Amino acid sequence: MTNEHRVAMGATAELDHCPLMPTYAAPSVMFVAGDGSWLTDRDGTRYLDLLNGLAVTSLGHAHPVVAAAIAAQATKLLHVSNLYGNEHHGQLATTLDGLIGGGGQLFFTNSGAEANECALKLARKFGGRGRHVVISAWGSFHGRTLATLHATGQPTKHEAFQPLPEGFRHVVWNDIDSLRTALDPSVAAVLLEPVQGEGGVNPADIEYLRAVRDLCTERGVLLMMDEIQTGLGRTGEWFGFQHAGIQPDVVTVAKALGNGMPIGGCWAKREIAACFEPGDHGTTYGGQPLAAAAARAVLDVMMSEDVPRRARHAGKRFTDGLSALPAVLSVRGLGMLLAAELDVDALGRDSRAVAAELMARGVIVNAVTPTALRVAPSLLISDDEIDHGLSILTEVLA
Ligand code: PLP
Repeated sequence: MTNEHRVAMGATAELDHCPLMPTYAAPSVMFVAGDGSWLTDRDGTRYLDLLNGLAVTSLGHAHPVVAAAIAAQATKLLHVSNLYGNEHHGQLATTLDGLIGGGGQLFFTNSGAEANECALKLARKFGGRGRHVVISAWGSFHGRTLATLHATGQPTKHEAFQPLPEGFRHVVWNDIDSLRTALDPSVAAVLLEPVQGEGGVNPADIEYLRAVRDLCTERGVLLMMDEIQTGLGRTGEWFGFQHAGIQPDVVTVAKALGNGMPIGGCWAKREIAACFEPGDHGTTYGGQPLAAAAARAVLDVMMSEDVPRRARHAGKRFTDGLSALPAVLSVRGLGMLLAAELDVDALGRDSRAVAAELMARGVIVNAVTPTALRVAPSLLISDDEIDHGLSILTEVLA
């Protein structure tokens, strides 16, 4: 690791070792400020951010309404235990419940993986002894805790951490027969993303989601949708499952909910949430005043800006622009969560090399597979910013 890398990780150049665990490759840039769709590094160079912390800052960086809510709450009351109420989490839960479809209750967390952990525990409590298996899809991503890692359908990520918690099974993505075969009496729930984000931006077929809903209802199994990357407008609906016109039993959210403040949530229909009793689950920080105040402001802005409509508009502009590039074989995804499949043979380099070139030209995307670039910008991105991004992409992919 070079001294430059050490500094980019926040260490002083004099240190002979990096103070952070080597769970991420050494970063090449350190960002110190952000505004809207733009980030600034410590040398003052500006970058168009088309990734937004991996679909987190859906309202862009330093949104003034969210910043004001955080500042006001920070000077008023930073934290109280969940043993007590706070003035934000009830209202936040009511608003989220309405967006998800109504008739449910929420448990707030600090992250996506924790929201899924809550869903997994709820599934076990719902199923009872002997009926605890959760089925998810190959290629899925549900988190990095031991249980959510096993739910994640990517065996290479499992290998080093065996034995993983028991009770997980994987089926072929978008294949209803594979699910039907796997659904035996030991199964409590099915956990799916409406678009597999980390797995390569692979949308579920509408017919598949409808068939999964019917099958789960028929077998008395919970349908749990992981909307951590797709939720809150990104796909062009408030939630990805809404494209299929279905209602899940459990929905998990995180990422965009805090626009950068760490907060997630697990929603469940009231009769399912009723499986939990006081003491079954808990968290020190989940839904605490600062995070909940930020999330309330986020939802207020999202509703007044109609972010699903913005995502549909921006997604179409990006899809049209990317599809016109000769080096782009196809564009997939929904709304403003897209992947451009590159003609890497013709380009003579893979998507990581292309992403690095774009970064050097001041545009941030990521290589979601060795052949595809992911684009997940702020939902408030302007047409001019999209066109600027597309013009740099055009030059780099020429
Ligand atoms: N589920 C999905 C679909 C995700 O995309 C992610 C993160 O990328 C997670 C779960 C895990 O969320 P977190 O990193 O906040 O634990």
